[in-house]
Amino acid sequence: MFQDPIYNQKVNIPNSSIELVIKREDLIHPFVSGNKFRKLKYNIKQAKTTRLRPILTFGGAFSNHIAAVAFAGKEHGVPTIGIIRGEELGLKKHLNPTLQFAKLNGMQLKFVSRDDYKKKTHSEFLSLLKDEFGAFYMLPEGGTNNLAVKGCEEILQPIDYTYNYVCCAVGTGGTIAGLINASKEHQKILGFPALKGDFLQEDIRKFANRDNWKLITDYHFGGYGKIKPELISFINTFKKNHNIPLDPIYTGKMLFGIFDRIANGYFPENSKILAIHTGGLQGIAGMNEMLKRKKSPLIEV
Ligand SMILES: *Cc1c(COP(=O)(O)O)cnc(C)c1O
Repeated sequence: MFQDPIYNQKVNIPNSSIELVIKREDLIHPFVSGNKFRKLKYNIKQAKTTRLRPILTFGGAFSNHIAAVAFAGKEHGVPTIGIIRGEELGLKKHLNPTLQFAKLNGMQLKFVSRDDYKKKTHSEFLSLLKDEFGAFYMLPEGGTNNLAVKGCEEILQPIDYTYNYVCCAVGTGGTIAGLINASKEHQKILGFPALKGDFLQEDIRKFANRDNWKLITDYHFGGYGKIKPELISFINTFKKNHNIPLDPIYTGKMLFGIFDRIANGYFPENSKILAIHTGGLQGIAGMNEMLKRKKSPLIEV
């Protein structure tokens, strides 16, 4: 489904003994998040072998997970259904770039109200979906489950054991759990949540089998999908300096946080940091549409 090996790219930090290297999981696919591919690998296999079709899952309007499921489903000949948060989206003439991509890849979209969306894990809601669509293979929002964590364990390779720190952005916690499980005891895994909330610690603990990890919660910029001009300007400068595009929802916030922590002396001298670029670049187009409406500076592409 994707090419291996994904390469590690060094990022120069002037006047510092710290080494920062980016694992370019974003190069797995131009539109689909690298970590979402990893999360889907064993789930698609499972859906196929149990002959449970279609795959049904949940997401917001800009969801990287929705885009990934649609694409992977098409590649593997498995039909997909996306339950999308916000019924107003279905009434619009033009779907946003994420949903357009999902639809083009054959995903059937069902738009539900925010209230209904909150009930998405309740058994009554799921049984209504079963009445409507028949039996399906259910993937939770964000795609995190045991098989997804197993897929994310393949991100870290033996050449990565030389790093003292492994950093990643955190949404539902599946990706960091895979990194934790694949890491060595001498490594510290740092997660940078893209959203507010204390529930993440517990969610990660459900899937992680050691405790060499920590969440750094200062860089969510106000919550999921929220941004600030300084974040946009950081993303644009980073691209100019290092020729690596970052997304505004996840990887931009993580790298902003890493640079801020480096500047503030959080990392000891000569630390070797590996930051996972999980992708998410498909989200830039939708974010820019919104920034344009607000007449704010755009993310340069
Ligand atoms: C979904 C996503 C994440 C978060 O992954 P979780 O496993 O949900 O924590 C990070 N980065 C990108 C680009 C994503 O699309």
